[in-house]
Amino acid sequence: MRRRLTLKQLLQPLKDISKTLPEHRRGRNKQYALSDAALSAFSVFYMQSPSFLEWQRRMQRSKGRNNAASLFGVQRIPSAEQIRDLLDPVSEEHFGDAYWALFDMVKERKELEVFRRSMGTWLVSLDGTQHHSSTSIHCEQCRRSERKGQTHYEHQVLLPVICAPDKKVVLPLQPEFMTPQDGAEKQDCEQAAIKRWIQKHHQRFHPWEVTLLADDLHSRQPVCSLALAHKMHFIFTCKESSHKSLYEELHLLEKVEGGVQEKEERHWNGRYWERRRYRWAEALPLRRGPDALLVNWCEMTVWRESTGKRIFHGAWVTDYAVDEHNVMAITTAGRSRWKVENEGNNVLKNQGYQFEHNYGHGKQHLANVLLTLLLLAFLIHTIFDLIDEKYQAIREELGARRTFFETIRTLTRFQYFRNWEHLLVFMFYGLELEPG
Ligand SMILES: [Zn+2]
Repeated sequence: MRRRLTLKQLLQPLKDISKTLPEHRRGRNKQYALSDAALSAFSVFYMQSPSFLEWQRRMQRSKGRNNAASLFGVQRIPSAEQIRDLLDPVSEEHFGDAYWALFDMVKERKELEVFRRSMGTWLVSLDGTQHHSSTSIHCEQCRRSERKGQTHYEHQVLLPVICAPDKKVVLPLQPEFMTPQDGAEKQDCEQAAIKRWIQKHHQRFHPWEVTLLADDLHSRQPVCSLALAHKMHFIFTCKESSHKSLYEELHLLEKVEGGVQEKEERHWNGRYWERRRYRWAEALPLRRGPDALLVNWCEMTVWRESTGKRIFHGAWVTDYAVDEHNVMAITTAGRSRWKVENEGNNVLKNQGYQFEHNYGHGKQHLANVLLTLLLLAFLIHTIFDLIDEKYQAIREELGARRTFFETIRTLTRFQYFRNWEHLLVFMFYGLELEPG
């Protein structure tokens, strides 16, 4: 029988790491442990409630115990100001191992098999996004740019996530922050971050266990060669406007019989019939010159059969040998990156509001540390939702994600729970759900 994985176990890596954060304070005023600051900030993101800590402080005063301690292991609850001062000097890199510990804990589980169905590998989508932009608030990690005579301060981050074509949820991996040294252009900056991420983390995976997905900005020789050198596959968007030499070669092949292969099929999408046309060709040069890497190219065009209206078109380059049997899987994998972009960014838009609101931007690492903790909270929610039946039943009963968190917030505000199991069982029976 499969071992049950509890929330307590999923939170353990972060608790362990929080205890080993390097001490930066001199002098004797060490009333609060650094781990209390990290776990407190995390708890706010996890509960999606800026006022969670305040309520727990009140509960501590009235009841002599509180849920920040029992659920998150916070020994003494620091104020927002103290959290900011304690976490600002700590590099976000310290929290990275929590992502990988979680990945190791869950990667062999049946519930995650769907994530490996595509090409038998993990699909890792690499997307950059912005998480801070201001003309006044800034820190040492801000990237500066001059626009219309004004200085803009920004933070950008590469958000690698594991995705699957038929899954709406994504699993975030350790983010890679872009630095002021990465350059001013989005393309240079994201590419530098992608390269660092591959170099730092390739050993976390077995050889050829990963397929990287990225947009057209990154289907360039340096990134593709680096992926191959570290034994990772890739399926990258490849547009004609930015890959002239590859498409010149392709158009030559189109004139030769069998130079470009083609396959068409009908597909019922649940509402109407689609026609899907796949085309593919092998060994095309990624750039001009004798040292060009040769890659395989494939394309998918979808149109509505009854009207002839085109509804999708995409083209990719890949190291996979494309044939009529796998062209559908490859293009579907490439296409799955689209919804990921939305998912990842939604997390930041919908849930990211708390951190700058509560804690400010900081001078050194704070903004990046808080984002790292926020994504970690999102990852743990997602994993638990995928693997725990009781949690799934509660979530289903309560409907929208928002209702679920409102309920948890209200419960933990008034009542003390010994541990997560106590809270989940309370909700489960409170909702009169049947044990499965
Ligand atoms: Zn900054």
